[in-house]
Amino acid sequence: MPLLLDDIEAVARRDRKDRQVRRYEARVRRAMRKMFREQRDALLRGSSGLRPYFRESEVEDELVRAWNRAKESGVLQAISVVQEVDPRVRALGFTSAADDIGVALTFDIQNPAVLEWAQTRSTNLVAGLNDTTLDRLRTVIRDGVENGDSWSTVSRNISERFGEFSGERADLIAITEIGEAYEEGRREAGRSLQARGVDMEKRWLTARDDLVCPICAGNGDAGWIRFDAEFPSGTQSPLGHPGCRCDEQLRAA
Ligand SMILES: [Zn+2]
Repeated sequence: MPLLLDDIEAVARRDRKDRQVRRYEARVRRAMRKMFREQRDALLRGSSGLRPYFRESEVEDELVRAWNRAKESGVLQAISVVQEVDPRVRALGFTSAADDIGVALTFDIQNPAVLEWAQTRSTNLVAGLNDTTLDRLRTVIRDGVENGDSWSTVSRNISERFGEFSGERADLIAITEIGEAYEEGRREAGRSLQARGVDMEKRWLTARDDLVCPICAGNGDAGWIRFDAEFPSGTQSPLGHPGCRCDEQLRAA
């Protein structure tokens, strides 16, 4: 029953990724929640300027000013967590990929290039999150103006929006950030094995549950393909999208 054995192996392989990254995901999730909480508190503390002329056209400019004062709150802590966690997760992806092939490769998490990579990643991540947060705050403000809401209603809505950030959004950020770091490590091991003359194949491993999207399912159905080939969705390797929980497996061709 070669197919069945293959399936069991695929499930075990992906479970290994889950086990390896779970606690790192949890750390990033906690760091993001804390950052959002501190940003919310700083914004609400510093946005009393919005109160007197709420409903006027300048309200959005005032929001941007208040947000610019508040947005650095908790950011350094969040960045330092991501910066610490990313190289470790990249190392896990790297060594697990080498393990797939049965080759022992080591990954140096203190390598300056690795540290710089993590620094750039974490900084870009938080900058992107802050842009999205401001966009969402603008929507809250616009809705408030449109509805003729009072400032106390609008500030409550802002607070609620930040509460949402600490839930699903923090989960999505953690899964995506950790997943990308892990898969980056795997690709790197794959490239380095290939450079040593190992001829390889890869396959896309989904979680095989109801949450798997059609794009990732299609990549999973493709089975084993050559290491440098594209999966049906046109990508070289997971993640397929933000929040993607897929993994990749390598073998010698
Ligand atoms: Zn996926």
